[in-house]
Amino acid sequence: MNAPLRPELSAPFYQAQGDECQLFEAAWQQQLPVLIKGPTGCGKTRFVAHMAARLGLPLITVSCHDDLSAADLVGRHLIGDGQTVWCDGPLTRAVRQGGICYLDEVVEARKDTTVVLHPLTDDRRILPIERTGEVLLAPPGFMLVVSYNPGYQHVLKTLKPSTRQRFVAMSFDFPSAEVEQQVVMQESGLAAAQAQQLVTLAGQLRRLSGYDLDESVSTRLLVYAAKLMASGMRPALACRTALAEPLSDEPDTVAALLAIIHTQF
Ligand code: ADP
Repeated sequence: MNAPLRPELSAPFYQAQGDECQLFEAAWQQQLPVLIKGPTGCGKTRFVAHMAARLGLPLITVSCHDDLSAADLVGRHLIGDGQTVWCDGPLTRAVRQGGICYLDEVVEARKDTTVVLHPLTDDRRILPIERTGEVLLAPPGFMLVVSYNPGYQHVLKTLKPSTRQRFVAMSFDFPSAEVEQQVVMQESGLAAAQAQQLVTLAGQLRRLSGYDLDESVSTRLLVYAAKLMASGMRPALACRTALAEPLSDEPDTVAALLAIIHTQF
């Protein structure tokens, strides 16, 4: 399968950090499922949206949660007008359409859900639908992409080795300062000098240790701060609202973050 990538401009903006776009394209061409791991807000979802658009594929995204069952993915019978009607779930729709099914935070889903993924992730590429007796063969365009954040998972909430080993895995992290500055400018319209200051600040905040922080400042939060600044908000207040308060409820931790913010703004 050799569909050339569409121009970047026709897709949602994504600033590459390395050769992830080429890797993703190769995985799609070879019909390999992809696992993307990395901290929240580092660009995983944007990357998948960008690649789906460039490959000209429909994208169906599912935000996984601890109540997500196999039936939520595959589909169920619904009763309406006195009849029972089968209704495809998002995974089944993606298979039928030959698009990308993106399961965000897949480790959150119930264990039985990962089992329905298995026959789709090996060379059979099939989706058996138990309740209707159908067995769908995934068309060449279909691709399964899952993501999770290894940083804040419980020991119990991780992918089983038998599931992980069915994917090629890409590791994402917050981008380099140059790339992150480009992202901040492009997403918010903030001028270069202030965007650079924000990115420097992010570096300092990410190095803060000794406090009870589950996660550090993400690129998403930096973009939020930049958007507030671009709309005329005082930088210190924008950073407090977008970078300090969302990260912690602990007064000591917020104070430590604010102290760092005040060294920049
Ligand atoms: P994740 O899925 O990793 O939690 P997202 O893909 O939703 O994170 O990224 C959050 C936001 O950060 C995006 O909406 C976008 O504004 C910005 N972003 C992060 N990294 C990039 C990137 N490399 N290129 C473009 N935007 C990015």
